[in-house]
Amino acid sequence: MSRFLSQRLLSLDAYVPGEQPTDMEFIKLNTNESPYPPPPGVVSAINAEEIEKLRLYPSPDGNILIDKLAKFYGVNTDNIIIGNGSDELLAFAFLAFCDKTRHICFPDITYGFYPVYAELYDLPYEQIPLKEDFTIGVSDYFGVGKNIIIANPNAPTGIALKLIEIESILKTNPDHVVLIDEAYVDFGADSAIPLIKKYDNLIVMHTYSKARSMAGARLAYAIASAALIEDLNRMKYSFNPYNVNRLTQVAGIAALDNDDYYKEKQREIIETREDAKSRLRDLGFIMTDSMANFLFTMHPDVSGADLYAALRSRGILVRHWNKARISDYLRITVGTKEQMDLLIAAMSDILSQTHK
Ligand SMILES: *Cc1c(COP(=O)(O)O)cnc(C)c1O
Repeated sequence: MSRFLSQRLLSLDAYVPGEQPTDMEFIKLNTNESPYPPPPGVVSAINAEEIEKLRLYPSPDGNILIDKLAKFYGVNTDNIIIGNGSDELLAFAFLAFCDKTRHICFPDITYGFYPVYAELYDLPYEQIPLKEDFTIGVSDYFGVGKNIIIANPNAPTGIALKLIEIESILKTNPDHVVLIDEAYVDFGADSAIPLIKKYDNLIVMHTYSKARSMAGARLAYAIASAALIEDLNRMKYSFNPYNVNRLTQVAGIAALDNDDYYKEKQREIIETREDAKSRLRDLGFIMTDSMANFLFTMHPDVSGADLYAALRSRGILVRHWNKARISDYLRITVGTKEQMDLLIAAMSDILSQTHK
Protein backbone atom coordinates (compact mmCIF):
# COMPACT_ATOMS: atom_id res chain seq x y z
CA MET A 1 0.00 0.00 0.00
CA SER A 2 1.05 3.59 -0.48
CA ARG A 3 1.66 6.10 2.25
CA PHE A 4 -1.31 8.05 0.89
CA LEU A 5 -3.99 5.50 1.75
CA SER A 6 -6.89 6.94 3.75
CA GLN A 7 -7.63 5.80 7.27
CA ARG A 8 -10.96 4.48 6.03
CA LEU A 9 -9.36 1.89 3.74
CA LEU A 10 -6.42 1.21 6.00
CA SER A 11 -8.68 -0.37 8.60
CA LEU A 12 -10.98 -2.21 6.14
CA ASP A 13 -11.02 -5.91 5.25
CA ALA A 14 -12.14 -5.80 1.62
CA TYR A 15 -14.53 -8.38 0.18
CA VAL A 16 -12.67 -11.37 -1.25
CA PRO A 17 -14.29 -12.61 -4.47
CA GLY A 18 -14.09 -16.26 -5.49
CA GLU A 19 -11.17 -17.11 -7.78
CA GLN A 20 -11.61 -16.46 -11.51
CA PRO A 21 -8.82 -18.53 -13.08
CA THR A 22 -8.12 -17.58 -16.70
CA ASP A 23 -6.85 -20.95 -17.87
CA MET A 24 -10.29 -22.69 -17.62
CA GLU A 25 -8.52 -25.84 -16.50
CA PHE A 26 -10.78 -25.99 -13.47
CA ILE A 27 -14.33 -27.17 -13.04
CA LYS A 28 -15.58 -23.92 -11.62
CA LEU A 29 -18.10 -24.43 -8.85
CA ASN A 30 -16.99 -21.53 -6.68
CA THR A 31 -18.90 -18.35 -7.58
CA ASN A 32 -22.49 -19.47 -8.28
CA GLU A 33 -22.39 -18.55 -11.94
CA SER A 34 -24.72 -20.39 -14.30
CA PRO A 35 -23.12 -23.30 -16.17
CA TYR A 36 -25.27 -22.36 -19.17
CA PRO A 37 -24.68 -19.47 -21.60
CA PRO A 38 -27.28 -16.74 -22.13
CA PRO A 39 -29.93 -17.69 -24.74
CA PRO A 40 -29.29 -17.11 -28.49
CA GLY A 41 -31.62 -14.09 -28.39
CA VAL A 42 -29.20 -12.31 -26.06
CA VAL A 43 -26.19 -13.23 -28.18
CA SER A 44 -27.77 -11.85 -31.37
CA ALA A 45 -28.97 -8.67 -29.64
CA ILE A 46 -25.35 -7.57 -29.18
CA ASN A 47 -24.82 -6.81 -32.87
CA ALA A 48 -22.66 -4.42 -34.93
CA GLU A 49 -25.32 -1.72 -34.81
CA GLU A 50 -25.38 -1.74 -31.01
CA ILE A 51 -21.59 -1.77 -30.89
CA GLU A 52 -21.43 1.28 -33.17
CA LYS A 53 -23.75 3.09 -30.79
CA LEU A 54 -21.10 2.75 -28.08
CA ARG A 55 -19.95 6.25 -29.06
CA LEU A 56 -23.09 7.50 -27.28
CA TYR A 57 -23.70 7.45 -23.56
CA PRO A 58 -26.23 4.88 -22.44
CA SER A 59 -29.68 5.91 -21.26
CA PRO A 60 -29.05 7.07 -17.67
CA ASP A 61 -32.42 5.85 -16.40
CA GLY A 62 -32.45 2.69 -18.57
CA ASN A 63 -36.05 3.45 -19.53
CA ILE A 64 -36.53 0.74 -22.19
CA LEU A 65 -35.22 -1.97 -19.87
CA ILE A 66 -37.22 -0.57 -16.96
CA ASP A 67 -40.43 -0.55 -19.06
CA LYS A 68 -39.84 -4.21 -19.83
CA LEU A 69 -39.05 -5.14 -16.23
CA ALA A 70 -42.16 -3.29 -15.04
CA LYS A 71 -44.37 -5.29 -17.41
CA PHE A 72 -42.57 -8.52 -16.52
CA TYR A 73 -43.19 -8.09 -12.78
CA GLY A 74 -46.52 -6.23 -12.92
CA VAL A 75 -45.25 -3.07 -11.21
CA ASN A 76 -44.94 0.56 -12.34
CA THR A 77 -41.81 1.97 -13.95
CA ASP A 78 -41.27 4.25 -10.95
CA ASN A 79 -40.94 1.14 -8.77
CA ILE A 80 -37.65 0.07 -10.44
CA ILE A 81 -34.00 1.14 -10.55
CA ILE A 82 -31.25 -0.69 -12.46
CA GLY A 83 -27.68 -1.04 -11.31
CA ASN A 84 -24.22 -2.29 -12.23
CA GLY A 85 -24.78 -5.58 -10.41
CA SER A 86 -26.53 -5.91 -7.06
CA ASP A 87 -23.29 -4.99 -5.40
CA GLU A 88 -23.67 -1.43 -6.66
CA LEU A 89 -27.36 -1.20 -5.72
CA LEU A 90 -26.54 -2.58 -2.27
CA ALA A 91 -23.96 0.17 -1.84
CA PHE A 92 -26.56 2.75 -2.89
CA ALA A 93 -29.01 1.35 -0.34
CA PHE A 94 -26.47 1.43 2.51
CA LEU A 95 -25.61 5.04 1.68
CA ALA A 96 -29.19 6.15 1.06
CA PHE A 97 -30.84 4.69 4.16
CA CYS A 98 -28.21 4.22 6.88
CA ASP A 99 -26.33 6.68 9.03
CA LYS A 100 -25.24 7.14 12.64
CA THR A 101 -28.86 7.20 13.80
CA ARG A 102 -30.26 4.63 11.34
CA HIS A 103 -28.36 1.42 12.01
CA ILE A 104 -28.53 -1.77 9.95
CA CYS A 105 -28.67 -5.45 10.91
CA PHE A 106 -28.23 -8.74 9.08
CA PRO A 107 -27.39 -12.36 9.94
CA ASP A 108 -23.89 -13.26 11.16
CA ILE A 109 -23.61 -15.75 8.32
CA THR A 110 -24.71 -14.17 5.06
CA TYR A 111 -23.40 -12.45 1.94
CA GLY A 112 -19.91 -11.19 2.80
CA PHE A 113 -20.39 -7.79 1.21
CA TYR A 114 -22.90 -6.51 3.79
CA PRO A 115 -20.36 -6.00 6.59
CA VAL A 116 -17.80 -4.65 4.09
CA TYR A 117 -20.15 -1.87 2.99
CA ALA A 118 -21.11 -1.08 6.57
CA GLU A 119 -17.41 -0.78 7.47
CA LEU A 120 -16.48 1.17 4.35
CA TYR A 121 -19.17 3.78 4.95
CA ASP A 122 -18.65 3.71 8.71
CA LEU A 123 -22.25 2.70 9.41
CA PRO A 124 -23.17 1.06 12.71
CA TYR A 125 -24.32 -2.52 12.13
CA GLU A 126 -25.37 -5.56 14.11
CA GLN A 127 -24.86 -9.18 13.05
CA ILE A 128 -27.67 -11.35 14.37
CA PRO A 129 -26.58 -14.99 14.80
CA LEU A 130 -28.35 -17.64 12.78
CA LYS A 131 -29.79 -20.47 14.83
CA GLU A 132 -27.75 -23.62 15.40
CA ASP A 133 -29.22 -25.22 12.26
CA PHE A 134 -28.30 -22.12 10.18
CA THR A 135 -31.91 -20.96 9.87
CA ILE A 136 -32.78 -17.31 10.45
CA GLY A 137 -34.52 -16.70 13.78
CA VAL A 138 -37.37 -14.70 12.28
CA SER A 139 -38.59 -13.28 15.60
CA ASP A 140 -35.07 -11.89 16.25
CA TYR A 141 -35.99 -9.27 13.66
CA PHE A 142 -39.40 -8.29 15.07
CA GLY A 143 -39.37 -4.59 15.94
CA VAL A 144 -35.58 -4.61 15.88
CA GLY A 145 -35.39 -0.82 15.49
CA LYS A 146 -32.85 -0.94 12.65
CA ASN A 147 -32.83 -1.29 8.90
CA ILE A 148 -32.67 -4.94 7.91
CA ILE A 149 -31.02 -6.77 5.05
CA ILE A 150 -31.69 -10.44 4.46
CA ALA A 151 -30.68 -12.59 1.51
CA ASN A 152 -33.53 -14.95 0.60
CA PRO A 153 -32.50 -17.67 0.05
CA ASN A 154 -29.63 -16.84 2.36
CA ALA A 155 -26.03 -17.26 1.19
CA PRO A 156 -24.04 -19.40 1.71
CA THR A 157 -26.63 -21.59 3.47
CA GLY A 158 -29.24 -21.65 0.68
CA ILE A 159 -32.02 -21.75 3.28
CA ALA A 160 -35.15 -19.81 2.29
CA LEU A 161 -37.67 -17.94 4.41
CA LYS A 162 -41.38 -18.21 3.67
CA LEU A 163 -43.18 -15.15 2.42
CA ILE A 164 -45.29 -14.92 5.59
CA GLU A 165 -42.09 -14.83 7.65
CA ILE A 166 -40.79 -11.93 5.57
CA GLU A 167 -44.15 -10.25 5.91
CA SER A 168 -44.00 -10.58 9.69
CA ILE A 169 -40.62 -8.81 9.67
CA LEU A 170 -41.99 -6.04 7.42
CA LYS A 171 -45.06 -5.56 9.62
CA THR A 172 -43.11 -5.19 12.84
CA ASN A 173 -40.60 -2.71 11.36
CA PRO A 174 -42.78 -0.14 9.59
CA ASP A 175 -40.31 2.68 10.30
CA HIS A 176 -37.25 0.91 8.89
CA VAL A 177 -36.19 -0.28 5.48
CA VAL A 178 -36.26 -4.05 4.94
CA LEU A 179 -34.13 -5.10 1.97
CA ILE A 180 -34.62 -8.63 0.66
CA ASP A 181 -31.73 -9.69 -1.58
CA GLU A 182 -33.24 -12.28 -3.93
CA ALA A 183 -30.11 -13.16 -5.92
CA TYR A 184 -31.11 -16.85 -5.85
CA VAL A 185 -34.90 -16.63 -5.70
CA ASP A 186 -35.46 -18.28 -9.10
CA PHE A 187 -34.11 -21.60 -7.86
CA GLY A 188 -37.07 -22.41 -5.64
CA ALA A 189 -37.97 -19.65 -3.14
CA ASP A 190 -40.93 -17.26 -3.24
CA SER A 191 -40.29 -13.68 -4.29
CA ALA A 192 -41.40 -10.81 -2.07
CA ILE A 193 -42.12 -8.59 -5.10
CA PRO A 194 -45.93 -8.92 -4.67
CA LEU A 195 -45.54 -7.36 -1.19
CA ILE A 196 -44.19 -4.11 -2.64
CA LYS A 197 -47.72 -2.73 -3.09
CA LYS A 198 -48.52 -3.38 0.57
CA TYR A 199 -45.29 -2.30 2.31
CA ASP A 200 -43.64 1.02 1.53
CA ASN A 201 -40.55 -0.03 3.55
CA LEU A 202 -39.67 -3.04 1.36
CA ILE A 203 -36.89 -3.22 -1.24
CA VAL A 204 -36.49 -6.40 -3.29
CA MET A 205 -33.23 -6.83 -5.17
CA HIS A 206 -32.61 -9.13 -8.14
CA THR A 207 -29.55 -9.80 -10.26
CA TYR A 208 -28.95 -11.14 -13.76
CA SER A 209 -25.74 -12.76 -12.47
CA LYS A 210 -27.06 -16.12 -11.30
CA ALA A 211 -30.37 -17.34 -12.76
CA ARG A 212 -30.03 -15.28 -15.97
CA SER A 213 -26.50 -16.41 -16.88
CA MET A 214 -25.10 -12.89 -17.13
CA ALA A 215 -22.64 -12.42 -14.27
CA GLY A 216 -20.18 -10.86 -16.72
CA ALA A 217 -22.67 -8.22 -17.87
CA ARG A 218 -23.10 -6.68 -14.39
CA LEU A 219 -26.82 -6.02 -14.25
CA ALA A 220 -29.29 -5.95 -11.38
CA TYR A 221 -32.44 -4.11 -10.35
CA ALA A 222 -34.27 -3.15 -7.21
CA ILE A 223 -38.07 -3.02 -6.91
CA ALA A 224 -39.70 -0.91 -4.19
CA SER A 225 -42.18 1.86 -3.47
CA ALA A 226 -41.77 4.90 -5.73
CA ALA A 227 -40.44 6.93 -2.78
CA LEU A 228 -37.68 4.44 -1.96
CA ILE A 229 -36.71 4.23 -5.66
CA GLU A 230 -36.56 8.02 -5.78
CA ASP A 231 -34.11 7.93 -2.84
CA LEU A 232 -31.95 5.29 -4.53
CA ASN A 233 -31.94 7.42 -7.69
CA ARG A 234 -30.83 10.44 -5.68
CA MET A 235 -27.89 8.29 -4.58
CA LYS A 236 -27.19 7.01 -8.10
CA TYR A 237 -27.25 10.51 -9.63
CA SER A 238 -24.79 11.60 -6.96
CA PHE A 239 -22.39 8.82 -7.93
CA ASN A 240 -22.63 7.56 -11.53
CA PRO A 241 -25.63 8.42 -13.71
CA TYR A 242 -24.44 6.09 -16.51
CA ASN A 243 -24.05 3.11 -14.23
CA VAL A 244 -25.32 0.45 -16.67
CA ASN A 245 -23.54 0.36 -20.00
CA ARG A 246 -25.31 0.19 -23.39
CA LEU A 247 -24.53 -3.42 -24.28
CA THR A 248 -25.66 -4.62 -20.89
CA GLN A 249 -28.96 -2.76 -21.21
CA VAL A 250 -29.51 -4.36 -24.64
CA ALA A 251 -28.67 -7.81 -23.26
CA GLY A 252 -30.95 -7.26 -20.28
CA ILE A 253 -33.89 -6.39 -22.53
CA ALA A 254 -33.31 -9.41 -24.79
CA ALA A 255 -33.07 -11.70 -21.77
CA LEU A 256 -36.63 -10.81 -20.74
CA ASP A 257 -37.86 -11.94 -24.19
CA ASN A 258 -36.29 -15.35 -23.58
CA ASP A 259 -37.78 -16.24 -20.25
CA ASP A 260 -38.81 -19.75 -21.37
CA TYR A 261 -35.15 -20.60 -21.91
CA TYR A 262 -34.28 -19.42 -18.40
CA LYS A 263 -37.21 -21.24 -16.82
CA GLU A 264 -36.01 -24.45 -18.42
CA LYS A 265 -32.39 -23.96 -17.30
CA GLN A 266 -33.55 -23.09 -13.78
CA ARG A 267 -35.59 -26.32 -13.68
CA GLU A 268 -32.54 -28.23 -14.85
CA ILE A 269 -30.35 -26.72 -12.14
CA ILE A 270 -32.95 -27.51 -9.47
CA GLU A 271 -33.12 -31.10 -10.68
CA THR A 272 -29.32 -31.41 -10.70
CA ARG A 273 -29.18 -29.87 -7.21
CA GLU A 274 -31.65 -32.31 -5.72
CA ASP A 275 -29.90 -35.24 -7.37
CA ALA A 276 -26.51 -34.06 -6.03
CA LYS A 277 -27.99 -33.63 -2.55
CA SER A 278 -29.09 -37.23 -2.38
CA ARG A 279 -25.86 -38.62 -3.85
CA LEU A 280 -23.74 -36.60 -1.41
CA ARG A 281 -25.94 -37.72 1.48
CA ASP A 282 -25.26 -41.30 0.38
CA LEU A 283 -21.54 -40.53 0.84
CA GLY A 284 -22.17 -39.31 4.39
CA PHE A 285 -22.32 -35.58 3.71
CA ILE A 286 -24.47 -33.34 5.88
CA MET A 287 -26.11 -30.33 4.27
CA THR A 288 -28.71 -27.63 4.48
CA ASP A 289 -31.86 -27.83 2.35
CA SER A 290 -30.57 -25.33 -0.17
CA MET A 291 -33.13 -23.60 -2.40
CA ALA A 292 -30.34 -21.85 -4.33
CA ASN A 293 -27.98 -22.88 -7.15
CA PHE A 294 -25.41 -24.11 -4.64
CA LEU A 295 -25.04 -26.67 -1.89
CA PHE A 296 -23.77 -25.93 1.61
CA THR A 297 -22.29 -29.13 2.90
CA MET A 298 -19.78 -30.79 5.22
CA HIS A 299 -18.48 -34.30 5.88
CA PRO A 300 -17.95 -35.49 9.47
CA ASP A 301 -14.66 -37.22 8.53
CA VAL A 302 -12.85 -34.41 6.67
CA SER A 303 -12.29 -30.78 7.60
CA GLY A 304 -13.56 -28.12 5.24
CA ALA A 305 -10.04 -26.89 4.53
CA ASP A 306 -8.79 -30.37 3.66
CA LEU A 307 -11.77 -31.11 1.47
CA TYR A 308 -11.35 -27.79 -0.34
CA ALA A 309 -7.65 -28.52 -0.98
CA ALA A 310 -8.29 -32.09 -2.10
CA LEU A 311 -10.94 -30.95 -4.59
CA ARG A 312 -8.68 -28.19 -5.86
CA SER A 313 -5.86 -30.64 -6.49
CA ARG A 314 -8.34 -32.67 -8.55
CA GLY A 315 -9.21 -29.61 -10.64
CA ILE A 316 -12.47 -28.66 -8.91
CA LEU A 317 -12.88 -25.18 -7.42
CA VAL A 318 -15.43 -24.65 -4.64
CA ARG A 319 -15.77 -21.99 -1.93
CA HIS A 320 -14.48 -22.36 1.61
CA TRP A 321 -14.37 -19.77 4.41
CA ASN A 322 -12.05 -19.92 7.34
CA LYS A 323 -14.73 -18.45 9.53
CA ALA A 324 -16.27 -19.40 12.86
CA ARG A 325 -19.23 -21.81 12.64
CA ILE A 326 -18.78 -22.60 8.94
CA SER A 327 -15.11 -23.56 8.57
CA ASP A 328 -16.01 -27.22 8.01
CA TYR A 329 -18.49 -26.37 5.30
CA LEU A 330 -18.06 -25.91 1.57
CA ARG A 331 -20.31 -23.97 -0.73
CA ILE A 332 -20.53 -25.83 -4.01
CA THR A 333 -22.19 -24.24 -7.04
CA VAL A 334 -24.57 -26.53 -8.91
CA GLY A 335 -23.07 -26.99 -12.37
CA THR A 336 -24.14 -29.23 -15.23
CA LYS A 337 -25.04 -32.86 -14.58
CA GLU A 338 -21.64 -33.86 -16.01
CA GLN A 339 -19.79 -31.48 -13.70
CA MET A 340 -21.69 -32.82 -10.69
CA ASP A 341 -20.86 -36.39 -11.72
CA LEU A 342 -17.17 -35.42 -11.69
CA LEU A 343 -17.59 -33.68 -8.33
CA ILE A 344 -19.19 -36.72 -6.75
CA ALA A 345 -16.57 -39.06 -8.22
CA ALA A 346 -13.86 -36.80 -6.75
CA MET A 347 -15.62 -36.75 -3.38
CA SER A 348 -15.83 -40.52 -3.15
CA ASP A 349 -12.18 -40.78 -4.20
CA ILE A 350 -11.17 -38.30 -1.48
CA LEU A 351 -13.23 -40.12 1.15
CA SER A 352 -11.77 -43.49 0.18
CA GLN A 353 -8.32 -42.05 0.95
CA THR A 354 -9.36 -40.48 4.24
CA HIS A 355 -8.62 -42.41 7.39
CA LYS A 356 -9.96 -40.76 10.44
C1 LIG B 1 -24.00 -12.99 -6.12
C2 LIG B 1 -24.70 -12.18 -5.06
C3 LIG B 1 -24.86 -10.81 -5.18
C4 LIG B 1 -24.10 -10.02 -6.20
O1 LIG B 1 -24.66 -10.02 -7.39
P1 LIG B 1 -24.10 -9.11 -8.55
O2 LIG B 1 -25.37 -8.69 -9.21
O3 LIG B 1 -23.28 -10.02 -9.40
O4 LIG B 1 -23.33 -7.97 -8.00
C5 LIG B 1 -25.63 -10.14 -4.25
N1 LIG B 1 -26.18 -10.77 -3.22
C6 LIG B 1 -26.02 -12.08 -3.05
C7 LIG B 1 -26.64 -12.75 -1.86
C8 LIG B 1 -25.26 -12.82 -3.95
O5 LIG B 1 -25.04 -14.12 -3.74
